[in-house]
Amino acid sequence: MKYWQKLSQDQIKARVFAALDENVDYYTENILGVPASHLDSKVFNNDEPFLKEAPFLATLVHNPNHIGCHTLDRSESAFHGTQKIEREVIELCAQDILRGGDTDGYVAAGGTEANMQAIWIYRNYFLDQYKASLSEITILSSADTHYSVDKACDVFVLDQYKVAVDPSTRKILPSDLERTIDLALLDGKKYFIVLANMMTTMFGSVDDPDVYIQALTARDLPFRLHVDGAYGGFFYPFANPNHNLDFSNEHVTSVTLDAHKMVQAPYGTGIFLIRKGFMHYTNTREASYVEGEDYTLSGSRSGANAVAIWMILMKNGPYGWKEKILILLNRARWLCEHLDKLSISYFRNEFSNIVTIDSSCISKEIAEEFGLVPDNHHHPKWYKVVIMDHVVIERLEPLINRLAESR
Ligand SMILES: *Cc1c(COP(=O)(O)O)cnc(C)c1O
Repeated sequence: MKYWQKLSQDQIKARVFAALDENVDYYTENILGVPASHLDSKVFNNDEPFLKEAPFLATLVHNPNHIGCHTLDRSESAFHGTQKIEREVIELCAQDILRGGDTDGYVAAGGTEANMQAIWIYRNYFLDQYKASLSEITILSSADTHYSVDKACDVFVLDQYKVAVDPSTRKILPSDLERTIDLALLDGKKYFIVLANMMTTMFGSVDDPDVYIQALTARDLPFRLHVDGAYGGFFYPFANPNHNLDFSNEHVTSVTLDAHKMVQAPYGTGIFLIRKGFMHYTNTREASYVEGEDYTLSGSRSGANAVAIWMILMKNGPYGWKEKILILLNRARWLCEHLDKLSISYFRNEFSNIVTIDSSCISKEIAEEFGLVPDNHHHPKWYKVVIMDHVVIERLEPLINRLAESR
């Protein structure tokens, strides 16, 4: 672990307040040229005594703007202190969790934005490096891929090809991948942006990126591979260290993580990570009033989000994090053992904390009573249980009891 070490509350507090000291201070300095300030002090008074003990809330009140990308040479100098914390979050995630080297990235609004950022970069990369036309670039992903990818296709005017998965294993069907590539080639597609899932939203299923890599390299087709770890990025690498969905795989160029899912950070903490040498494809040079220009989809964004991620990871430390994941896996196993006893069919990846129950084995009433989420609100085929921090066995037991009664 290069960046990730467990810190005490006092160490965390000291580091965050030191970072705020390095930022400009709207309360005491003459900052006359920016359309920005601290939070409204009539509502959020910076002199509240409890703020001295609350580094995240204090950061919110100081209101640093992390506009731009801070892993590149230059960025807005007014908020260097907290930007350094964001850079550390990026390096920690890329190197200590995803086994990479020096990486670019930023804290995005969420997994949706991080996936869109990847697709934006690769679209521009193919336009620029291969002189591709827009209609020759396409997106390739599994049928279980998150809808943010459909959104990205709409926004960036790209076509999309979805590969069927086996209905019981949720694995990409290699024969359907070949069929899909044939179809795309017939439609004039030449350049492929591949999205591989590190735990899908509905099933927690995990794609084998080698299936895509082999199929595309066998035909000499140019591609770039993005891993969507919005749900699984802070879970799967700890549950199954023997995987090929991070930067240790030379074909993986970028990864999405979401700290507002498994990390329990506030919303607005998506994380976009990409190997060095790609960020410049989305440089908006017209952002000339921003020091260092802007490479991100976001524009202005709160520096407090990066601070929140950093605090949570540092408080837990790498071993604490691993233990947290093991506890959730243990509860998922408990649930599956009891479902097995009741002969209820479900899907679960053995390294995942999502258990997706076949709708033929559970009534709509029970699913609704326990807040299970359907794959489709009109015609549910599946209902999922997501074993989060608050989903303890004492909460799972009543579900099992209700299912037993109804069998
Ligand atoms: C949740 C999720 C997203 C979208 O993330 P938001 O943070 O809601 O924008 C993308 N991909 C996967 C796999 C997800 O689970």
